[in-house]
Amino acid sequence: MKKIIWISSILIWFIALFVPKASLSFSLFVLAYLMVAGPVFAKTLKSILKGNIFTVNFLMVIATIGAFIVNEPAEASIAMILYLLGEEIEDYAIYRSQKSISALLALKPQSATLWQESGNLVVSPETVAIGDILLATTGDKIALDGTIIEGEAYIDNSIITGESVPVHGKLGDSVLSGGLIKEGSLKISVTKPYQDSTISKMLAMIEHASESKSTSEKMMSRFATYYTPIVVGLAFLLTFIPVVFWSADAKTWLTRSFVFLAASCPCSLIISIPLTYFAGLHKASQNGILIKGANYLEAFSKIDTLVLDKTGTLTKGSFDLVAIESDSHSEEDVLTLAAMIEQYSKHPIAVSIRQAYTENMSRKTATANALPNISPTQFQEISGKGIVLHYQGNEYLCGNQSLLRDYGVSYPTGTSPYSVVYLAKDKEYIGSITIADQLKPDSVEAISQFRKLGLDNLQLFTGDRTEIANHIAREVGIDIVKADMLPSDKFNGVQALLNQKAANSKIAFVGDGINDASVLKLADIGIAMGGLGADIAVESADIILTNDRLSSLVLAFGISQKTARILKQNLILSLGFKGMILLLGSMGLVGMWAAVFADVGIMLLASLNSLRAGK
Ligand code: ADP
Ligand code: MG
Repeated sequence: MKKIIWISSILIWFIALFVPKASLSFSLFVLAYLMVAGPVFAKTLKSILKGNIFTVNFLMVIATIGAFIVNEPAEASIAMILYLLGEEIEDYAIYRSQKSISALLALKPQSATLWQESGNLVVSPETVAIGDILLATTGDKIALDGTIIEGEAYIDNSIITGESVPVHGKLGDSVLSGGLIKEGSLKISVTKPYQDSTISKMLAMIEHASESKSTSEKMMSRFATYYTPIVVGLAFLLTFIPVVFWSADAKTWLTRSFVFLAASCPCSLIISIPLTYFAGLHKASQNGILIKGANYLEAFSKIDTLVLDKTGTLTKGSFDLVAIESDSHSEEDVLTLAAMIEQYSKHPIAVSIRQAYTENMSRKTATANALPNISPTQFQEISGKGIVLHYQGNEYLCGNQSLLRDYGVSYPTGTSPYSVVYLAKDKEYIGSITIADQLKPDSVEAISQFRKLGLDNLQLFTGDRTEIANHIAREVGIDIVKADMLPSDKFNGVQALLNQKAANSKIAFVGDGINDASVLKLADIGIAMGGLGADIAVESADIILTNDRLSSLVLAFGISQKTARILKQNLILSLGFKGMILLLGSMGLVGMWAAVFADVGIMLLASLNSLRAGK
């Protein structure tokens, strides 16, 4: 229906061009105009009622009505038709980019194979519960997040992380929904219901980011509040001055004023702004970078300080066991106790200790030994310090020196270059576990890339000891280091940076969100590492790196800078060209025709330029 109206309107416009009788052709032009202009009038009226007069629609309405008044009906109607055509193209471009994103996600798992004593059952992923056991073999898409309980496989996680090299999954590893099994077969114990699983969260988020038509509309209307009154004012002066001061011919100058108005419609910007953002967002999502909206992409190009967390951000966050020390207990007892205390924590140290325990056990008894399932009467995770747990009337501590000090437990001091986790029971020191983290392979390169892209102010915030922090900072090339920070110190540190920053600059914080979600929220741009694992991180962050790599953040920074550059180019191109046409129009050198068609040309040029953001 809409299409028919459009085509008829254009047809009528063409017929009107060849109708010799002036009054009839005028009526036909008015008809062609009215057939399409309704929505523009409606929008104009609506914003005027809201007290917002100077919109782009308002500009179009007065320019075209004016053109009719000065008897330029052909130009008046074609200007409106082309303006609306521009809007159609914008909608289409947005629709296309949304479709290409959902095409990416059309790969979403449609079914899951449940393993049951009585036989396998194919069900829809939405109906699977936590603890259910899934079967997945070569060629299958993993339907829900879970843990491997049997088998091994090579898994292609590229839909989620953009990383095409398959990862090797074995007993005890966690797997993400959306992963494709390249080779092997697995039994997976489901850890999250479908709606909380990685693939479905990712889908929801991408859809949300694509709704940012509103963002570009907001930018357009901000622009229009300056642009429209200036243009209308100039058009007024263009008639007023010659007629009043030089007694020039009113009709000639009025015509020029309306040409000026019609030519001033910023159609090329209307189209190219959203196109540029979508191209940029799309490119990012293809590389495992999820950006929650176009505004964050814009803001990210303006950062002048990047604060980095250490564990899990610069380092792998998976600690290797270096040594276990104790005078009173066997190494194995110390490890078991630590794993037991840490079993409810999501902290990378806790995960690593549990892993060390599992590996140690499976070396001895072929099957993976579950931890003694204890139900503590009290479990407390003290952020940046460690765990306090009450069980069978005893109080256990597992954490750093600061935790033991707080609880008045004395411990042997050492100068290990590694992280040390101390254990105590009922205020008696039991022993310690020394663990070592490693830099991620791309951390050094990523930091130097940031500097190359002009981001020099890099700061490391960590809850770890000064020696370790300095060591890591030296290795990656960061010179501003703050160590021994509690999560609240990190918050205050970022707050201080926000207070000092220059008006238009932005502060970004990148962390794993384990105990820094509040900082992710506080920073102008919060970036979460560690995929879609920690729900709280995904909620608090503005940018999520699904593949855990700092080099993805460099890529994201590059994309945001390129997007900003292209937006600026299009602005200069559009306004520059527009300025020229306006100047020529006001001197009577070009008519409304030229103005209108020049606009189409720039529109195409700007749109092509926009698409580069996705290259
Ligand atoms: P980072 O800044 O490196 O991310 P965190 O704030 O997460 O550090 O933790 C700081 C320190 O607190 C760790 O280095 C560790 O010593 C201690 N810690 C925190 N949580 C735990 C835990 N669950 N078990 C043992 N130690 C912990
Ligand atoms: Mg941390």
